[in-house]
Amino acid sequence: MFIMSEDSQRTQGRDAQSSNIMAGKAVAEAVRTTLGPRGMDKMLVDSGGEVVITNDGATILNEMDIEHPAAQMIVEVADSQEEEVGDGTTTAAVIAGNLLGEAEDLIEQDVHATTIVEGYHEAAEIALEAIESQVGEAEVDDEILKQVAESSMTGKGTGGLTAESLAETVVEAIRHVEMDAGVQRDNVSIHTQIGASSNATELVPGIVVDEEAAHDAMPANVEDASIAVLDVELGVRTGEIDAEYAIDSIDQLNQAIDAEESEVRGYAETIAESGADVVFTTEDVDDRVSTFLANEGVLVFESVGDSDARDIASATGARRVGALDDLEEDDFGAADHIRTKNYGDDDLAFVEGGAAAEAVTVFVRGGTEHVVDELERAIEDALDVVATALASGEVVPGAGATEIAIADTIRSEAAGIEGRKQLAVNAFADAIDVVPRTLAANTGQDPIDSLVDLRAAHESEGRAGLITAGEEVTIDDPFEYGVVDPADVKREAIESATEAATMIVRIDDVIAAE
Ligand code: ADP
Ligand code: MG
Repeated sequence: MFIMSEDSQRTQGRDAQSSNIMAGKAVAEAVRTTLGPRGMDKMLVDSGGEVVITNDGATILNEMDIEHPAAQMIVEVADSQEEEVGDGTTTAAVIAGNLLGEAEDLIEQDVHATTIVEGYHEAAEIALEAIESQVGEAEVDDEILKQVAESSMTGKGTGGLTAESLAETVVEAIRHVEMDAGVQRDNVSIHTQIGASSNATELVPGIVVDEEAAHDAMPANVEDASIAVLDVELGVRTGEIDAEYAIDSIDQLNQAIDAEESEVRGYAETIAESGADVVFTTEDVDDRVSTFLANEGVLVFESVGDSDARDIASATGARRVGALDDLEEDDFGAADHIRTKNYGDDDLAFVEGGAAAEAVTVFVRGGTEHVVDELERAIEDALDVVATALASGEVVPGAGATEIAIADTIRSEAAGIEGRKQLAVNAFADAIDVVPRTLAANTGQDPIDSLVDLRAAHESEGRAGLITAGEEVTIDDPFEYGVVDPADVKREAIESATEAATMIVRIDDVIAAE
């Protein structure tokens, strides 16, 4: 008896388990070499020939166009990591892959999937406690925030820019949006603009939009700007005249033209009289209106994108107005300074200071599209980790030290766990070891020797990480070198990797519709 369509495919039992595990492992393997300060980049080319060069785990996995459902779950680990804490995506994916690898061995030794799942959950709890014990005692100040930013940008292409100066910019940006209600991460944006060296990357106290003045004679700089944001067409809609007038004489034509002229003049005068210095409208502006307003010294932007209009309104406190008759001074937003600038093919408007200064923009420069794109991803991660570290006030040592401590704690507690579950708990510790092992391998060290040395140093000194400082690789206390990660990044990596791995292990029946 068939209860499913004959076209659907079904894999069951061990076959299902091992094919899922293999797919999950393969995905994690794909990002392994990018981990850490000496991690390599990947060049991804899509079917359209579009090229992305990146070191970012989540970006790589998303660009890879992965189809296998179990593999897709590892991609989701990276995605949720990115979403929740903004960094640690490679770490989470690599741990998940190794949890699967260890599970495969256990299944071969006839340990039941349920036992593995229970053991993994128990080990994850121990891991979270171990992270707690690793949290640094020092207050998370600007110095530590800079270290967090720098550690997160390690190994990323920063276009020749020092991670130190970028870290400074990132911390300044986050401090800028720190309000009583907490860090307003959404008020920080990044705007990339090619054409200069990455050294020209700077912080703009406001927002930057891709918009061009409607007329060349308009001022390129407006101080103390009153800003109107409109969804109004400033001109006569084409076709409107014909509909209203049946033109069959020269007189009537002249009348029509007069009426049009006066309508256009009416728009221009209403705006000029409203007291607005700068106008953004999402609709078109008639040339005659912009000429008139240029003479009046008003700066006008036409056909502004909807999201730009929204950003400008929310940053400057302007209310968007849909009809010119409704425009009142109350609707105006304010900024200390609005300027327009041309960058080759692009025209940008900078809206700075005043109400707009609640927002801040990292204005990223770089020689090529690839450079600014990777710089943008690096800064995005750094902004997230600094916000995360500032929010919880908790950082842990990086460079594998926290993972060494986690694995050590798990192993010592595993001794007290009965039965086969103990095997699963120990296997979890082995999977966590992948982080220091991979950091070692990616810096050209022998992974086994490094692991042994790290454990010994952890035993005798407490904090022990495999630190890359310039050309040197040493085992020491990462806090001494400013290699620090937010505690939440480690917690999230453990949680999301455990969740995905246990979910995949539990599956013993895959039914796929064709
Ligand atoms: P992820 O996507 O997981 O964030 P990264 O490639 O950013 O991957 O690498 C992060 C790891 O690199 C963390 O474990 C972090 O502590 C470590 N790390 C950062 N800077 C250094 C350093 N100077 N020396 C050794 N390890 C470092
Ligand atoms: Mg990172």
